[in-house]
Amino acid sequence: MSQTTIFDELESQVRSYCRNWPVTLATAAGSTVTTEDGTEYLDFFAGAGVMNYGHNDPDLTEALVDYLRSGAVVHSLDLHTVAKREFLTSFRDHVLRPRNLDHKVMFPGPTGTNSVESALKLARKVTGRQHILSFTNAFHGMTLGSLSVTGNSMKRQGAGLPLTNTSKIPYDNYFEGATEDFLWLERVLADSGSGVDLPAAIIVETVQGEGGLNVARPEWLRALADLCKAHEILLIVDDVQAGVGRTGTYFSFEEAGIVPDIVCLSKALSGYGLPLALTLIRPELDQWEPGEHNGTFRGHNPAFVTGAAALKKFWADDAFQLEVRERAAELHEGLEKIASGYPDAVVKGRGLLAGIEFPDKGAATRIAASAFGKGLLVETSGPENEVLKTMPPLTITSGELQRGLGILREAAAEVFG
Ligand code: PMP
Repeated sequence: MSQTTIFDELESQVRSYCRNWPVTLATAAGSTVTTEDGTEYLDFFAGAGVMNYGHNDPDLTEALVDYLRSGAVVHSLDLHTVAKREFLTSFRDHVLRPRNLDHKVMFPGPTGTNSVESALKLARKVTGRQHILSFTNAFHGMTLGSLSVTGNSMKRQGAGLPLTNTSKIPYDNYFEGATEDFLWLERVLADSGSGVDLPAAIIVETVQGEGGLNVARPEWLRALADLCKAHEILLIVDDVQAGVGRTGTYFSFEEAGIVPDIVCLSKALSGYGLPLALTLIRPELDQWEPGEHNGTFRGHNPAFVTGAAALKKFWADDAFQLEVRERAAELHEGLEKIASGYPDAVVKGRGLLAGIEFPDKGAATRIAASAFGKGLLVETSGPENEVLKTMPPLTITSGELQRGLGILREAAAEVFG
């Protein structure tokens, strides 16, 4: 029985990526993944934003293998371990202290949605309020709480109404160029007799990774932060996809100069594709009772080992950030060149989370399929998959980036004939 048959025979049809890329992956290195029959693909997908430092970075591999060979503990619930100490020390020294952040670190469970769930739950507990506001086209995860603040109705269909006290408000530029920011919300919230329930929190992505690469302007984010402060609403930034360097700085909100009350991180945090998530909490919000929010897999020691090594290797000085910004400029320039060949095609996104929206809503899917045939993994984004989305490893070389852009150029030309 071939391997493909066992997948089709036993796995649920909920699978999606393997339908676009019907191959069996075997190995990977840097920005390349290779199938079991030896076909190589350049990776503009990075495991949906997990492989920021490339596949199987040799230094991280060595740290992980050494750890496992040493007989060190792998599973530990939330017990103190040497690996967790190393990770927390690295995170404090390379991420929190240089940015003057005094947030506490909570390990909420293995994935992004676990972090979002913990953030929503803590916001409700601390404020004593129920309502959570999120944004049109937001994506925050697939478990029932995070799904209820997600804006994609296809993903929500059939799930019923998980949390009822949630509402979507317009993301930046939803009204195409309207600049009123939050005046309307400000007026409603200030009118205590209007019957509006003050929300516990507002949760936002600075770049909507799944929702179509919509970018929040820094001034819009500052207006949002000010509004939250004025009404004692907690500001949660979901940096699961846009964080860990993806958009140019370690946290995606640094450019705007805001300090969220709660930050959700996961995806690229372990640096190696191992599941790891954390929730940053302003110290005064850390009002959990011991054990009030727990789970079996909170803090995976092998992920702590690679996560600490990644922080030391890539974030110990500014050089890596500069490289990432150079690659991002190159990517945007290349995408602009491609888009300029097609009327009304628009480049979207920030940093190495960028793409092209085509007015023909099916074009991005067809370009991605054509690119796959030419050896490039690239996905789509947006409510109707109308955006071709590139998300290469941050460590991609200029040569690899140009090669991938060349494939996209050819694929677009083929699709538009
Ligand atoms: N938030 C954002 C912004 C995401 O992009 C994702 C995953 N695409 C999640 C939360 C959920 O993360 P996970 O799939 O690891 O649960």
